[in-house]
Amino acid sequence: MEQPVQSLAEAKKRAEFLRAELERHNRLYYVEAKPEISDREFDRLMRELQDLEAAHPELATPDSPTQRVGGAPIEGFQQVKHAVPMMSLDNTYSVEEMREFDARVRKALGVESVDYVIEPKVDGVSISLRYEHGVLKVAATRGDGKTGDDITANAKTIRAIPLRIPTDAAVLEVRGEAYLGKAAFAKMNAEREKAGEALFANPRNATAGSLKQLDPKVVAGRPLSAVLYATGALEGVEFETQADVLRGLAKLGFPVAKLWWECRGIEEVVARAEELQRREGELEYEMDGAVVKVNRLALWRQLGTTAKAPRFAMAYKYSHEQAQTVLRAITLQVGRTGVLTPVAELEPVELAGSTISRATLHNEDEIKRKDIRVGDTVIIEKAGEVIPAVVAVVAEKRPWGTKPFDLSAHAGGKCPACGGGIVRDPEAAAWRCENLDCPAQIRGRIEHFTARKAMNIDGFGEAIVESLTTERTVQEAADEGLFGVRTETKVLPPAVRDVADLYALTAEAIELRRPNRVADGKAPSMVLARKLAAAIEASKGSELWRLLHGLGIPNVGEGLARTLAQELGSLDSLMAADAEALAKVRDIGEIVARSVVEFFANPRNRAVIEKLRKAGVRFDRVEKVAAGADRDGYFFGKRVVITGTLEKFTREQAQEELRKRGATVAETVGKTTNIVVAGAEAGSKLEKAQKLGIPILDEAEFLNKLG
Ligand code: AMP
Ligand code: ZN
Repeated sequence: MEQPVQSLAEAKKRAEFLRAELERHNRLYYVEAKPEISDREFDRLMRELQDLEAAHPELATPDSPTQRVGGAPIEGFQQVKHAVPMMSLDNTYSVEEMREFDARVRKALGVESVDYVIEPKVDGVSISLRYEHGVLKVAATRGDGKTGDDITANAKTIRAIPLRIPTDAAVLEVRGEAYLGKAAFAKMNAEREKAGEALFANPRNATAGSLKQLDPKVVAGRPLSAVLYATGALEGVEFETQADVLRGLAKLGFPVAKLWWECRGIEEVVARAEELQRREGELEYEMDGAVVKVNRLALWRQLGTTAKAPRFAMAYKYSHEQAQTVLRAITLQVGRTGVLTPVAELEPVELAGSTISRATLHNEDEIKRKDIRVGDTVIIEKAGEVIPAVVAVVAEKRPWGTKPFDLSAHAGGKCPACGGGIVRDPEAAAWRCENLDCPAQIRGRIEHFTARKAMNIDGFGEAIVESLTTERTVQEAADEGLFGVRTETKVLPPAVRDVADLYALTAEAIELRRPNRVADGKAPSMVLARKLAAAIEASKGSELWRLLHGLGIPNVGEGLARTLAQELGSLDSLMAADAEALAKVRDIGEIVARSVVEFFANPRNRAVIEKLRKAGVRFDRVEKVAAGADRDGYFFGKRVVITGTLEKFTREQAQEELRKRGATVAETVGKTTNIVVAGAEAGSKLEKAQKLGIPILDEAEFLNKLG
């Protein structure tokens, strides 16, 4: 195409526009996976920029997207000294040692509980990217931790790495891993095989090999990507928590892990570690475990490092014990949300010290991706405490006549529990039973409601839940007349159809349905039934967060249930809140807000809630806002942050005093903070409070207000 003659100024403006556009589309494509224009359109813009830069070489800049095709080959790598060393991580394979790590951290900090972030341990090659005033200046490998190779020219060819970021910070070093995605790796190896080239052993080797290429053009031809999770040297920018780092990096346009969580205490970490492993298939890169980091960066400084690794972080590696066995069948389990989960029924096999006959297959997409078929010999794997999973098929052992798995066909198009229709839920990569009266869903809801982390009603095993929620045929002694004991067969309808029905159960009704009543042949003793009935009764006074969690509101797990309970104070105020108000609550995003509103708008859910109310279930018990708290007291209902060292109290004592008075004690200073108590040597929190104009109490004033 003939370009009209442009003035230099015009050309410069156009080049700037094209660069911004190309980088934006690049990010949409490689980081957000949401392209807005076609590849052709993209190529056209790129060509125009290349032409412009060719016509006006003085316009070319080192951060131009045209650089991504790779510059001239280099002789060897310069060395880069890391301003902040790139450290290794301590690691463990056991949950017990994770708890010990937590105990060490708590002891060192003198606190009862620590907030953590858990994220994938990406199995790539560590890199450090240095941006100065928003422009990528240097990219380096870890090397020995103190000095690495300068791989700037190669890193620039990685499309997921922004060449320019929207920040004025004088220095922003970002750290993470370069990797080859699973699919990209497979494709690349397939191409190499065709071309008769040597194959790479695994994605990490391929990545390391690529980054060490002396010719950036070769690197540009490899589909490398990157994920970032930390910072190095910083000037003119600050973060308070690891969660802020991850969110902040994402905001700047860096790719960050799509699965990570902030956790209250180590038990939540353990649960998320399991979830992360279960959902490994959702990540495009290989992961070899999880990394757990203390969330607050100020605490990192307090904890320090050993010679080799930081004391505030730990890698939790997934050990992979494997075995081979035959997949006899795939059954479908229906959970409380109606999702049909495929389960592998296996020829029993020894694995990590126990006999395994069932394993998870995750979901339909995973089965298809791995092409797992009934009859196959499969490799199963168990890692730590996680349930065993089928990870691969032994292709050579596939018998004749197997068929690719298709969940809907497998289920005959209907729910295996209730026979109702099933629909595909694209978001969850799952099929779902739509029948809200599906007995399997009801069972799931009861199990969830009574669970330890919800209403915590002791004694609800699978068997009793099953017998309470299904029709029961029972033999009853009818009378002891002329013919002695005569038994009568009775059919009892399900006793429990929703969670509120639990509160209508009497000990007698429970006894009648006790699963082993007939089998054990003993006279009804009522002991167990009475115990269960008492536990149900006692649960009426449970704290609000337990009820909220137990109701099973989509997207509201234990942590958010606690937050909502703290912030809203009662179920009624939560039900009255609209999405806009909810989204303003700390930690509550729009998705959660919407899901809460939808849940309470559903007449069925409202009916259950009204039944719970009638049964006398408390809707307003919120932890630590003790009954004795004076509603007119200074601290009542306030969000308070304590910072610095207090002379007359430990942190815990001060928190306890505040909670007794109906305050919520928070870690971070933000717009919703009402009061900051500042002891000696208070740091950034105090500054932030001053900036935000939040009332600040010194220790004397604090004592005074406590009264
Ligand atoms: P190791 O090499 O086994 O001592 O593990 C430490 C390395 O794990 C770090 O140097 C990082 O390169 C890498 N790593 C991968 N994912 C993460 C993550 N999310 N956070 C911190 N380090 C990570
Ligand atoms: Zn069903």
